[in-house]
Amino acid sequence: MASNSANLVSEQSDLSWLKGRAPLIGLTGGIGSGKTAVSDLLGKLGAGIVDTDVIAHQITAPKGIAIPAIEQQFGANYLDANGALDRDKMRALVFAKPEARKTLEAITHPLIRQETIKQAEVLIAKGVPYLVFVVPLLIESGSWQGLIDYLVVVDCPEEVQITRVMQRSNLPRPEVERILKAQTSRKDRLARADIVIENQGSFEELDTEVNRLHQKILQIKKDQLSSS
Ligand code: ATP
Repeated sequence: MASNSANLVSEQSDLSWLKGRAPLIGLTGGIGSGKTAVSDLLGKLGAGIVDTDVIAHQITAPKGIAIPAIEQQFGANYLDANGALDRDKMRALVFAKPEARKTLEAITHPLIRQETIKQAEVLIAKGVPYLVFVVPLLIESGSWQGLIDYLVVVDCPEEVQITRVMQRSNLPRPEVERILKAQTSRKDRLARADIVIENQGSFEELDTEVNRLHQKILQIKKDQLSSS
């Protein structure tokens, strides 16, 4: 492997080379469960964070790498005045036409993957103690199963999710309930979790839980090193 981040980028075509280099944590949870809150706290503690939702936004922002293909496939009508993907318009389209979702995902998924690999390479080169992949639909997607060492699920009751998302995103309740229904059920997600982070209390309580999680992962890393 090359030794600096400038010439590391895109040498890898997938993430399998990461196995055994550092604990690989998958972080998921339903809409509004608190994935970002947890990953922000872990990031402050020194974890390497690769957030696929953030990447999805970056590539569809003005001048984002997905914009030319989106414009070509869907037309400039699906871009806003700044040249970013018009999310509301696209959401309405893919909701009405499942084949449009497939077309969009055929553009975005390979680019998200490419960017995920790039960011993971840079973080590993920086020497982070472990990597956290924030993937909202990790369980639904299937493609992460072989890679992740530990699956962390952020959990809170659905009513808490609904209230938080309505407040944060100014969405009506039926819209939030519709998104929630389209995701894996809470029960199935919890059944798959190696570690559950409860997030129905205050931010202070979450902070305590996340600190505990961080220590646990560092211990896993120590155990990995001493057994290798
Ligand atoms: P999404 O799935 O929509 O990306 P998410 O799982 O990343 O959401 P966050 O964005 O972290 O969830 O949290 C959703 C909302 O709930 C945010 O407005 C956040 O500030 C708030 N929130 C998260 N955790 C708590 C908490 N413990 N107490 C109060 N509010 C919280």
